[in-house]
Amino acid sequence: MTEFLLELKGITVKFGGFKALDDLNLSLRTGELRTVIGPNGAGKTTFLDVITGKVKPIEGDVYFKGKSLLKQREHRIARLGIGRKFQSPRVFEKLSVFDNLALAVAWPKKPIPLLLESTNRAEHARIDKLMSIVNLQAKSTVLAGSLSHGQKQWLEIAMLVGQKPDLLLVDEPVAGLTDEETDLTADLLKSLAGENTVLVIDHDMDFIRRLDSTVTVLHQGHVLCEGDMETIQKEPRVIEVYLGQPEEGIS
Ligand code: ADP
Ligand code: MG
Repeated sequence: MTEFLLELKGITVKFGGFKALDDLNLSLRTGELRTVIGPNGAGKTTFLDVITGKVKPIEGDVYFKGKSLLKQREHRIARLGIGRKFQSPRVFEKLSVFDNLALAVAWPKKPIPLLLESTNRAEHARIDKLMSIVNLQAKSTVLAGSLSHGQKQWLEIAMLVGQKPDLLLVDEPVAGLTDEETDLTADLLKSLAGENTVLVIDHDMDFIRRLDSTVTVLHQGHVLCEGDMETIQKEPRVIEVYLGQPEEGIS
C-alpha cells in the first residue's frame, strides 16, 4: 500500500501538437493541504481535469488510494471520493442554503426524487455542522441565489465537504472575492485540512501565503519546484517565470 492518497506519475497531455502537461509528477499525502500555482497557461486546470478523468493523458498514470484512475470514467472517479469545486460557484440558486446542503449530504445515496423529501436526524445534524463550518447558520432558510459571491463559494465548499470526498480539489476559489472574504476562505480551507485532503489552485499571492501550505509551482506543464512559500519565493527559476508576468509577480 502506498503512503500517498494521490500520485501523478509522468503525466503528459497533448492538445493537437501542444503539450499542456509534460512529464508531470506530484504526490499528495492523506490530510495534506497543497497549493498549486503557476502563470496563466501553465496547465493548472488541465492538471485537475486529468485527476477527475475529464482529460486523459497520452503518457503516465494517476493513482488514487493506490489504484490507477486511467481507465475510470469521470462520474466513477467522483464516486471513488474525489470532489471538485469549479471556479464559479455552482449552487442551486432557487433552493435554500439548507436544501443545497441536504442535497449534498444525501448524494449519491438517495434516488433523486427523494433527495429533498425529508432529512433524517443524522443528516440534519451534519447540515447544521456544515453551516457552522462556513458561517452560514443564520442563512439556513435564505435562497442560495441571494447570497453574496463569497457566501456562495463557501456554500459550495460546504456542499463538497458534505459529500465526504477523500480528496477535495478547489480551483481558484478567491477570484472576485473581497480581501476579507479571501482571508476567511483561506482560514476555511486550512481548517478543512487534516480531516480532509485539500488541493487548491490559485495565483493570488496573499491568499497562498495565508494558506501556509506546501506550494507546487507549475510551468509549461511541468513541476518547476516545490516547497514552502518562503523557499519558493527565493527560487531563481520561479522568479524568472513570474518576472514575465509582472501583474502576477511574487511580492
Ligand atoms: P491554467 O489553468 O494554468 O491557466 P490550462 O490548464 O487551462 O492552464 O491550459 C494549459 C494550456 O493548454 C494553455 O496553453 C491552454 O491554451 C491549453 N489548453 C487547455 N485546454 C485546451 C483544449 N481543450 N484544447 C486546446 N488547448 C487547450
Ligand atoms: Mg485555469
